Parts: sequence; structure tokens; C-alpha cells
Amino acid sequence: MVDGSDHGGMTLATSLPQARRLATEIPGPLSRELMARKQNAVARGVGTTMPVFAVRAGGGVVEDVDGNVLIDLGSGIAVTTVGVSAPRVVDAVREQAEAFTHTCFMVTPYEGYVAVAEQLNRLTPGTHDKRSVLFNSGAEAVENAVKIARAYTGRQAVVAFDHAYHGRTNLTMALTAKSMPYKHGFGPFAPEVYRAPLSYPFRDELDGPAAARRAIDVIEKQIGKPAAVVIEPIQGEGGFIVPAPGFLPALAQWCRDNDVVFIADEVQTGFARTGALFASEHEGIVPDLLVSAKGIADGLPLSAVTGRAEIMDAAHAGGLGGTYGGNPIACAAALATIETIEAEGLVERAREIERLMKDRLSALRERDDRIGDIRGRGAMIAVELVRAGTTEPDPELARSVAAAAHARGVIVLTCGTYGNVLRFLPPLSISDELLHDALDVLAEGF
Ligand SMILES: *Cc1c(COP(=O)(O)O)cnc(C)c1O
Repeated sequence: MVDGSDHGGMTLATSLPQARRLATEIPGPLSRELMARKQNAVARGVGTTMPVFAVRAGGGVVEDVDGNVLIDLGSGIAVTTVGVSAPRVVDAVREQAEAFTHTCFMVTPYEGYVAVAEQLNRLTPGTHDKRSVLFNSGAEAVENAVKIARAYTGRQAVVAFDHAYHGRTNLTMALTAKSMPYKHGFGPFAPEVYRAPLSYPFRDELDGPAAARRAIDVIEKQIGKPAAVVIEPIQGEGGFIVPAPGFLPALAQWCRDNDVVFIADEVQTGFARTGALFASEHEGIVPDLLVSAKGIADGLPLSAVTGRAEIMDAAHAGGLGGTYGGNPIACAAALATIETIEAEGLVERAREIERLMKDRLSALRERDDRIGDIRGRGAMIAVELVRAGTTEPDPELARSVAAAAHARGVIVLTCGTYGNVLRFLPPLSISDELLHDALDVLAEGF
């Protein structure tokens, strides 16, 4: 059976009933068995948010091995933005897998890679001449953006920000701010990485331009002129921190004035997630280089660096690449993902989800002053939890509300430097009914 009805979201084509259902306790017996096997077979370093194992997913739900149907407020960490196994993506992947799975673009190139580069050059902010290069993961693309910026400027220093998250490889661990769990015990880290203060409206009084001045002072005093500044326009793991208005434009302007490469890490914020195709658009900034991944290909591993032709082409021939980078199946999925976003009006759908969630969460905050802040854009919304009436972080509350939601069949993630942020990243294919049900569960959890 295909559920082709309109749920206030997009038209779905999934056979999964779009309703939360608890068939067993969470986790059920089959998930518990699998978890025991995981413990004996998989390295302990790989944790899981939920204690259940998935068998199917679609629309706004994930079904587990015990027949529980969970509401998905995570999208596999902001990846399945167009809906997991979106119909166009499934068709494109099947067709490409039958044609060829791999030739290596550096050996025998194929059109899909070029077509994805053309789309990225068209869709990213700015009308200047652009080039793109494709990789597998967000971290790999961030590393390559830094390589490109160094090749272009002939400088080495790179600036990252407080609360930043850029990945788990050696250079991106250095760029990432938080020690536990991402860096602890894994050093030494790559040199020539410097950290500047962010704008964090809930926790500092500075307006955007003043916060930018504070950051620029640190950069000028500690480095002079770096090769690049790397920043998430809205921080992801760091707690969905939206900098005060004017912060990003002032920083971008300083980079332009000083010939420093401005790199926007839009790995989490890209591809319609924030109610714009890219979050840079909210303040009209035009990054020199833009890094995308997560939402780019509906779950197939793909990432990209897109930017000014003269910067991108500074890296010598053969200097960029990788065996799997721009895999043909991932490229087919990306083209189908972009088509889905445009055909289904998903940028607007993300804005609708923002309105619905902020309305519900604001009503909740009226009754509960442990919700210190509600923030984010589009379908990237968070609440920061504090001890009642203060700004003191309350990570235990975040953990217990998340645990209560998990037990009742709602997938919700936590984040933030202090671990006190509940973050909501629903797929844009979720129905309003499911969102309301999930918010009812959360309200009861509080
Ligand atoms: C997830 C993330 C990364 C790392 O991407 P991976 O694909 O996990 O390597 C980098 N930057 C940001 C902002 C992210 O959210």
C-alpha cells in the first residue's frame, strides 16, 4: 500500500503507517538481543542514541525490529532531510547501481559528478564563477577546504570558533572545540589551528558587530592574517547557536578586506534544513568556500567543497581527490535530492516546521522556566535547558527528558557544549500530526 495523501508536509510514497506505535517496551526483546551482539562485535567507541535497531523508515517514522514505530526528530543527524528513501532517490540509486557502481572519477570520469558540481555552483550563494570538488564525509570536505585555502593564500593558520564542531579526523578534531567525547585521549592535534570567541546571544550580552570585533581582535593579536576562518553559520553539535545578527556579515567583511578565505561549514545547515537552501542566505553572506555534506544525498555518503573559481583552482592538478570521492551512486542520489527539494517546495516546508515547533515550544516555556532559550531556524530547532530562573546549564534534565521521549517512541538528540540542549531535526517529509504528537510526548517528559 502506498500512502499518497498529503499530511501537511509533502506527498509521501511510503508503505509505513505514519503514526507512533509501541508494540513492546523500548528496547524490545529483539533489539536487546542485537545490542548484546553489538557489544561483542562492535568497538565500544561507537555509541548509539537509541537502544533499538531499525528495519524500515519513511515519511516521519522509523520502525524497529520489534515492530515499534518511532517518530523521527533526528533525520539520522540532519541527513535524510527530504525523507529517508525518498522516491526519486530510490529510483535514481537503483538505476545507477545497475549501470555501474564505481569507476573512480580520477580514472574514468562520469557525468553525474559533473552534474552535481554544476548544481552546487548554481545553488550556493553568490553569482560569481565557481568550482566544486566532491568527497565522502563532512570532515573530509572540511579538511580539503583548508588545503585549498592554504594553497591559495600561501599561509597556514586557520581560525575556528568556540563550540565549533567540524568532524573527527585529525585536522577536524583540532578545529572542533569540545574535548569529551570528540578529542579526549586522541591527540596530538594538527598545528596552526587557533580559536576565536563566538557570538552566543543566550550567554553573552554583545550584539553581532561587537562580538565580531571581539573575535577579530583575537585573530589579529594571535595570528595577524590567517589562511582561513572556518565557521558554521548556525552551530550544530555546539548547540544550534544562532549568532547575533551582524556577526557573520562583519566577519565575512573582515575576511574580504584582508584576503582571508571565509569558509562556511554548512554540513549540518545546508540543503533546505534551515528554511533556506543554505543558512548563509539568512544574513546575505557569500562564503568564499562552502562545505556541504549531510543533507546533500539523502543518506548516501557524499560531501563537497564549492567556491570561487580562483581559490578552488589554486590547488595543483592531482592535489585533490580520493578513491571514492563523488561515487556515482551518491551523485545520482544528490541529483534526485536536489530535484525533490525544488519540486516539493521543501525550503518553504522547513519554514512551516519552524513556525509549528516554535509556537509549541514557546507555549511550553510559558509554563516551565527550565527552558532557558528556544532557537534555530527551519527544521533545525533547539531548546537550551537551565536550572529554573537561571542560565546555569542543566544537562541532567536534557538527558532525562530525552530518555523519557525515547521510552515513549520519539527519537530526539541532545547536543551543546554543556550537554543541556535538546535538538530537533525532523525530516521535511514529516506530517504536522506526527510533530504535534512528538511535542505532546516531550511536554509530558518535562
Ligand atoms: C557532522 C558535521 C561534520 C562532520 O561530518 P561527517 O560526515 O560526520 O564527517 C562537520 N561539520 C559539521 C557542521 C557537522 O555537523
